[in-house]
Amino acid sequence: MRKIDELNDWRRTHYSVEIKPELEGKKVTIFGWLSSIREQGGIVFLILNDKEGMVQITVHKDKSSKSILEKLKILSEHSSIGVKGIVKSINKAPHGAEIIPEEIKILSIAKRQPPFSLFGGKMPTIDKRLDIRVIDLRRPKAQAIFKIRHTVLKAIRDFLIGKRYMEVSTPKIIATATEGGAALFPLLYYDKEAFLAQSPQLYKEQLVMPFEKVFEIGPIFRAEESRTLRHLSEIISVDVEEAFVSYKDTMNLIEQMISHVVKTINDECSKEMELLKQKIKIPKSPFKRLTYDEILKILEKEGIIMNWGEDLSTQTIKILGEILPEFYFIIDWPTAIKPFYIKPRDDKKDICESFDLMHSSIELASGGSRISSKRLLIKRLKEQGLKPKLFEYHLRIFDYGMPPHAGFGLGLERLMMVLTGQENIREVSIFPRDRFRLTP
Ligand code: ATP
Ligand code: MG
Repeated sequence: MRKIDELNDWRRTHYSVEIKPELEGKKVTIFGWLSSIREQGGIVFLILNDKEGMVQITVHKDKSSKSILEKLKILSEHSSIGVKGIVKSINKAPHGAEIIPEEIKILSIAKRQPPFSLFGGKMPTIDKRLDIRVIDLRRPKAQAIFKIRHTVLKAIRDFLIGKRYMEVSTPKIIATATEGGAALFPLLYYDKEAFLAQSPQLYKEQLVMPFEKVFEIGPIFRAEESRTLRHLSEIISVDVEEAFVSYKDTMNLIEQMISHVVKTINDECSKEMELLKQKIKIPKSPFKRLTYDEILKILEKEGIIMNWGEDLSTQTIKILGEILPEFYFIIDWPTAIKPFYIKPRDDKKDICESFDLMHSSIELASGGSRISSKRLLIKRLKEQGLKPKLFEYHLRIFDYGMPPHAGFGLGLERLMMVLTGQENIREVSIFPRDRFRLTP
């Protein structure tokens, strides 16, 4: 007997969760994967999972066709099947109904079982799970995380488009570093050296000339040397840039955007949030805005003395996170530790119009007012040890009436960590890339 059936003209009529008592007596066709096969006194209970949830298929051995009984003998958990059958309401089944099969198609037999249970039990290390990531992604918690991610992306797009920002895409293969040579992945572009983009920064700034308000949701690449719980080598960055505004307007925008995202997932993903045991309130606006100088004072009280101009270390940010457990901004950073395109303050040049959006000890976004004067931009490039000649393609645009502008870049995975309460960034990336992982 041939074990594998052809799909032929079978098509799904319902998803698992739609099998409810209201459908009593109706003939349905469903597809999915078997998550459990259990026999009890002449009755075989099959649990079938699809992307929406699960449904029970009940086979009464004495009343079933020979073909179904033959198939039961060879079916293993995780095999993918199709079932045509009649809905019967029954209290004890999920959603109050089960399917009595008339015909079963075996579409693929699972020859192996994953080394962990998808539905509870002890979990192996994340690396073991990542090795068979798409199977791991069928765990209900992973399903919840990525349903929330999908909703977050939709909420961000809705919010920005509603405010008349235009979605753009910029090149990911670039000729020069955006912010200096560190952390870049070089590649061979025909016979030239090129790099993977570490940020759409310069392109999105240029795009305020034709479009004024733009955003991009796309990958950025960083050759991070160390393996941490919050760095990957490829992430999705939410970038916004706008003409005729300053960093203060940009902070207001990001604040509203975060509030809209939180409200949307609370409205549309309450089941998923509950499954993750995650509660998140719509944050109060305005978020706290602490200057770099105020942060140094807070740290001083904790016994940490920093030199003015020093960047915050992972260690100090951890301590800060305990004092500031919510969303907050660190603003007005020393000019020298921010990228060359950030605008120094007019009254105090060693401080710049910049912000980092934080949640506890996690940096979610960096942004600021940008330099719009070509002369100043060249000066800042030189001060940071970069060669203006390499940026000629960018600097040239500044001769054509570059307006004041501001924007930010927000790491989607970092935001997802905060929203879903994950400590390891790998949990919120479908196929994470880091120093040691290039597959799957
Ligand atoms: P960090 O100091 O945390 O390494 P950064 O200041 O170097 O981040 P930015 O250049 O400011 O990062 O990038 C903007 C945002 O992109 C960050 O605030 C963060 O949310 C995200 N991001 C940057 N690099 C990474 C990375 N390697 N992995 C995950 N997210 C990142
Ligand atoms: Mg930053």
